[in-house]
Amino acid sequence: MEIITAVRGFKDILPGEAVKWHFVEQTARTIFSSFGFREIRLPLLEKTELFKRGIGEATDIVEKEMYTFLDKGDEYLTMRPEATAGVIRAYIEHSLFAADPVVKLFTMGPMFRRERPQKGRYRQFHQIDAEVLGSDDPQTDAELIFMLVHLLHTLGLMSLKLEINSLGCRDCRPAFRTAITEFLSGKEGELCGDCQRRLHTNPLRVFDCKVKECQQVLASAPRLLDFLCDACRDHFEEVQGTLTLYGTPFSVNSRMVRGLDYYTRTTFELTTESLGAQNAVVGGGRFDGLVKDLGGPEIAGIGFAIGMERLVSMLALADDGLDQRPLLYIAALGDGAKKKSGLICNRLRIKGIYAEIDYSGKSLKSQMKRADKLGCRYTLIVGDREMDEQIAELRDMRSSSQIKISFDKIEDYVINIAKEN
Ligand code: ATP
Ligand code: MG
Repeated sequence: MEIITAVRGFKDILPGEAVKWHFVEQTARTIFSSFGFREIRLPLLEKTELFKRGIGEATDIVEKEMYTFLDKGDEYLTMRPEATAGVIRAYIEHSLFAADPVVKLFTMGPMFRRERPQKGRYRQFHQIDAEVLGSDDPQTDAELIFMLVHLLHTLGLMSLKLEINSLGCRDCRPAFRTAITEFLSGKEGELCGDCQRRLHTNPLRVFDCKVKECQQVLASAPRLLDFLCDACRDHFEEVQGTLTLYGTPFSVNSRMVRGLDYYTRTTFELTTESLGAQNAVVGGGRFDGLVKDLGGPEIAGIGFAIGMERLVSMLALADDGLDQRPLLYIAALGDGAKKKSGLICNRLRIKGIYAEIDYSGKSLKSQMKRADKLGCRYTLIVGDREMDEQIAELRDMRSSSQIKISFDKIEDYVINIAKEN
């Protein structure tokens, strides 16, 4: 019969890879907790309105990439394409701002965007997302970036490039918008179809375009940084000063605008040269107007999203480097031996020892072969003779040495080995 495959752009994470995901998630949790971040778990489905208002109607995500459906004729729902909007929705809905003036949250999980699937780009992908709410201090920006870079270094990723920019605020961005619109008018013919449209809906988005011709047109475009108001310029300078103080290298990229409308002031990206076209591993920035736009109080925020698939693909770990191997394999031969072995095996497991057993009744040779393949450290052999004598053979798979051990001593003996290993 024909097999049913996964949906295009939706990827399975197999056990050999999942251990890497655990390693990344675990490292992130540990580091986040010492910086005061607490986990929030959110629904994957939200009202479409949340993303339209949060991310912005005239963005690629909202215009083209969302999985949206009419739920039984009632209301439009969307599989979340990113996490920030949902985090802020929950923050407002549960008045988390009332508990503490500064709230630091993180979340991890799948996001959905209907993009063209390719290497490093999927329709279901995963992010680790961290947000700080309640501080517009530039030191908060630097601290968040410092934590992020520390996480990546801890994971062994030393070569990522940090780029930062400032997108200004509601006071200074309109002037830049006018300037870029003027600059691009008359050059429409040189732009791609998407950008011709963006020119009228959201001219800043042109900077985000990956088409070479559009990038060429932009080479002599006005720079956002030249339009910053005094407050935004001071803010950006202090972010840079603090990063320097913390010893975090960065470069300023005045063309980086990021793909979501909610960003204000500091934005940043971490990119790599090792992943080809999909080179952004982390994106983030400030969103000082978002809480208010979503109906909450005037509260500043900043956050980032790490792309898990791209991050994991950069880890130098061998596929099975982190995979668990059984400490003990029990080769049981015969019905009585099988029952007794099952009991020993499961008693060891509840003591936290990874033991494996074969119920197939296959020959000793084939069971030893499997033990070897699983990379077991020790094998316990229990056959009819062993059942009669109540003594089993314990083989050290590394040295091939073998000892006899009575049934009633096995548990303690293996627990001791586990302590030493
Ligand atoms: P890109 O420019 O690569 O499309 P983006 O600006 O759309 O990225 P963000 O919305 O900032 O990305 O998301 C943060 C991170 O999530 C990205 O840097 C990337 O690592 C990852 N990411 C985004 N879209 C996808 C996708 N479709 N598949 C896999 N990872 C993704
Ligand atoms: Mg994108």
